[in-house]
Amino acid sequence: MVPKAAAQLIAQHLYRHRRPHLAGAAVGVLLLSIILILVSGSANAVRSKALIERFEVPLYIPEIGLVDYQLPSEPVWQELTIRPGDSLTSLLQRANLSPQVVAKVIEHKTARRQLHRLIPGDKFRVQVEPGDKPRLLGIDYKLKDDRILSVRLDDDGHYYPILQQPEYEHRMRFATGTVQTSLYEAALASGLSDNLTMQLTEIFGWDIDFALDIRQGDSFSVLYDVQYHRGEQVADGTILAAEFTSQGRTYQAIRFVEDNGRSQYYSPDGRSLRKAFLRTPVDFRRISSRFGKRFHPVHKKVKQHSGVDYAARAGTPIRATGDGKIVYRGRKGGYGKTIIIRHGNVDTTLYAHMRHYARGMRPGRYVRQGQIIGFVGQTGTATGPHLHYEFRVHGVHRNPLTVRLPDARPIKRQYKSRFAELLQARNNQMGLYKTRHLAMTEVQ
Ligand SMILES: [Zn+2]
Repeated sequence: MVPKAAAQLIAQHLYRHRRPHLAGAAVGVLLLSIILILVSGSANAVRSKALIERFEVPLYIPEIGLVDYQLPSEPVWQELTIRPGDSLTSLLQRANLSPQVVAKVIEHKTARRQLHRLIPGDKFRVQVEPGDKPRLLGIDYKLKDDRILSVRLDDDGHYYPILQQPEYEHRMRFATGTVQTSLYEAALASGLSDNLTMQLTEIFGWDIDFALDIRQGDSFSVLYDVQYHRGEQVADGTILAAEFTSQGRTYQAIRFVEDNGRSQYYSPDGRSLRKAFLRTPVDFRRISSRFGKRFHPVHKKVKQHSGVDYAARAGTPIRATGDGKIVYRGRKGGYGKTIIIRHGNVDTTLYAHMRHYARGMRPGRYVRQGQIIGFVGQTGTATGPHLHYEFRVHGVHRNPLTVRLPDARPIKRQYKSRFAELLQARNNQMGLYKTRHLAMTEVQ
């Protein structure tokens, strides 16, 4: 990346000539110009500039990456990528360390156990004191469960391991865009990752049909949180608040996290943006039979069809349409392999002709909306692989395609005041970012 290389060069050059403040300023100027191009991240720029002035190394500048400009004699953190077949020995050799150090590193059994299997593609960070005989000072290795194994050299020359939960730094970002050709392109241009774009469409997917309803001029603004660890982005981020204006109508969503860690998106008046039920339990190819009277292909007579049939490839995952408890799982005559879920006191949903059930699905088990409960098949009376889906209210069959789906629960009473405060904060943040974005657009 050109900006990264340039920043690095300027910084190194100036540092060599012992003009740290100029180095800071130069990188700062470069940063600011980049920030003008980029929509977000000005707060980070200020922060980075402060970091440069304090000369913390190695330095991470958002949008640029790692910039090393420390003196050669300083211990350096290097990042190695584990290759297939790598052992701790071969890995440390790449950092110019002697194989003898390995035995000392794995002296302690925690380190031995965790460094026994290295996963190709993973990052492995080592801190090395340069010199004729480079000395290993530390190792940081992110484990599968997200914990970090840190190994450090103590004053007695022993390496001791520490397992720690990563401390993430959270940075707020903002993106906004207007649809010209497609939502996808507008989102991309605004700097949203695919993952965040998907989150956006999922949040508003209950109110806006993103396949059909998107028009030129529709717009969105997104406030999101990005997690960093040691200056490196570790996740795509989570949407904190979002607005979507579709055909002149604006929808708003605020993310609220309950004490138990469960999070949901609510409208400013505290309504959930979800419905209590998904409209369809499966990604289907076509609806092969609707609710109502029809000529039955197997029984050869007109019968009431009390559900909807979704033709789908055998093995397609079937999702619980709402939170609830499994009350039946087993073969059920012509239905074949069937699961029935009870949602609250009045509603039940039924899923039939399954090829097999998902693991652990048994009566009494609670499932979440969208959770996979089984797979499409043609057990029971069926002419091809499909899901037969029924929706009952007070035991009475209703048409799943047209039944009015109740909203998911609104913000709980005990969280109302906290939600009100959060809403205010998010609106302020959103307002600030929007103003700044407008100002920047005018400068350009
Ligand atoms: Zn059916």
